[in-house]
Amino acid sequence: MTHAAAADSERAGASGADRSVNRPAALYEGNCPCLSGEQYVHCCGRFHRGDAEAATAEQLMRSRYSAFVVRDAGYLLRTWHPDTRPAEMEFDAGMQWRRLDILSTSRGGPLDSEGVVEFAAHYRHEGERAVQRETSRFVRVGGRWYYLSGVVSG
Ligand SMILES: [Zn+2]
Repeated sequence: MTHAAAADSERAGASGADRSVNRPAALYEGNCPCLSGEQYVHCCGRFHRGDAEAATAEQLMRSRYSAFVVRDAGYLLRTWHPDTRPAEMEFDAGMQWRRLDILSTSRGGPLDSEGVVEFAAHYRHEGERAVQRETSRFVRVGGRWYYLSGVVSG
């Protein structure tokens, strides 16, 4: 996902800072935000901590979605391909990610060098419900999957 909405950060800051912005991901407890049904520490938390590498493009997609939820900027940046990676990540304090639906995947397996994942990410932004649909491209370099680019379709 490319939706970092840095432009909103000043306004959000003015309307009341979100205290959870800098909460370390390691403190996140409970079910994984990717809705796998597993605990965060045993699911995307393993990737965020660096204890495991995403084996498929879909796994990376799920873990990046979870990283938006737990606001792990470091993980988002290190799983972003250097060709398209922003210099830094800022989270929109008014953004609450609610649910991820993987709509389709193409390639992106452990032996592929590229993959495509289409998803719908449901969120609330300053109280308004909305959905971001995106088709993301991933590439595998040196055995690791990276997010390359995404096309938002609505
Ligand atoms: Zn997960």
